Amino acid sequence: MTDDIREIRRLAAQVAADVYAPMADELDAERRPLPVEERKRLGELGFLGIALPEEFGGSGAPISHALAVIEELGKVCRPAAFQVFESNTGPAQVINHLGTEQQRRRWLPDIVAGEKTMAVAISEPDAGSAATDMRTSAKPVDDTYVINGTKRWISNGGEADLYLTYTRLSDAPGSKGIGGIVVEKGTPGLSFGAQEKLMGFRGIPSADVIFDDVVAPADNVVVPAGGFGKLFGVFSIERLGNTTMSLAVAQAALDRTTAYVQEREQFGKPLVEFQSVQTNLADMVLQVEAARALLEKAADSADTGLPDPFKVSLAKCTANEMAKRVTDLGMQLHGGNGYTEEYGLERLHRDSHGWAIAGGTPAMQRTRIVSELLGRRFDQRR
Ligand SMILES: Cc1cc2nc3c(=O)[nH]c(=O)nc-3n(C[C@H](O)[C@H](O)[C@H](O)COP(=O)(O)OP(=O)(O)OC[C@H]3O[C@@H](n4cnc5c(N)ncnc54)[C@H](O)[C@@H]3O)c2cc1C
Repeated sequence: MTDDIREIRRLAAQVAADVYAPMADELDAERRPLPVEERKRLGELGFLGIALPEEFGGSGAPISHALAVIEELGKVCRPAAFQVFESNTGPAQVINHLGTEQQRRRWLPDIVAGEKTMAVAISEPDAGSAATDMRTSAKPVDDTYVINGTKRWISNGGEADLYLTYTRLSDAPGSKGIGGIVVEKGTPGLSFGAQEKLMGFRGIPSADVIFDDVVAPADNVVVPAGGFGKLFGVFSIERLGNTTMSLAVAQAALDRTTAYVQEREQFGKPLVEFQSVQTNLADMVLQVEAARALLEKAADSADTGLPDPFKVSLAKCTANEMAKRVTDLGMQLHGGNGYTEEYGLERLHRDSHGWAIAGGTPAMQRTRIVSELLGRRFDQRR
């Protein structure tokens, strides 16, 4: 670890403990998103633009610096970490990598400052893992596109100001017709479904995004039809963020459990004195450290461009599944207390499941891993 990462990690851990930990329970219990002023605070701290270029207000640092901040915030307050995730690893990176100079100037400074936030709208009611089955279409009319369709499970849906919408920009079949266009909240015809009541992810809004003859300027097209592969190339950065969220959740469960088994006594001695408790704790450490090593390898591969998709899928698949197991073990080692909201273990477990569905399931990551390993594609339709 370089001194720079250590320093930003230390700062993020401090802010997490002082500012976001005290509000985390309430945001979860009330399913309330991070207040706008708190998002702006993240902007003022420079956390929203760590891995975005300096000319747009960011720091131009490697992605690993942003991941360190996501982890520290994510250990205590996922709604706060989510903002750093969206701006540094999410749709804003698509604008950064694939947008025109004019688009980057138009949208990135506000995102870096926390003035605006962005969501990515890919999934649809009938197109989840099979994203290229999407039906939302954008028809060219003069110098605009008219968009119709429904997107589902959109994190930050209803809350975000800008929606990077993957849509059919031409009649070409499959992935060939798909591109990306930004739609601004408030555009006539753009509406949102009711907020989903998810098992976890409480405090991170999720809703359908509905397009009913929404007119967006052609200037808002970030990636024209046929650019789906490029969009998914940059999506590897989002998967690094997703992996980090899983790691954060698991590390938090491990930290809390390590403290708990030394404090709690049964049969006249601390739980940690029992060999089976040691075995379980060791299993938690083993799994967290293995996932961390894979994440670091994947993040290092992004030093000179986009991350290596093979390394990213290895890390995401491992971390997503690891977080579910490790939080489960943590709950068990907390006994009855692990099953209460008060101790926070159940929340970590609920959240671990969400990250393992978002951003492509472990099953789809496995297909990708073998595909990259063998250098060939596996057609899921034939
Ligand atoms: C918390 C959360 C946040 C999300 N945020 C966003 C967001 O911001 N933007 C967005 O666009 N989407 C978002 N999503 C949607 C997410 O990307 C999809 O839920 C995910 O891709 C899976 O699609 P699905 O739910 O339709 O499940 P399905 O695709 O129906 O899959 C159901 C099951 O079948 C398996 N399966 C499907 N196809 C195959 C196959 N070929 N081989 C083996 N197994 C297969 C899957 O692995 C899964 O276990 C989010 C989802 C969640 C839960």
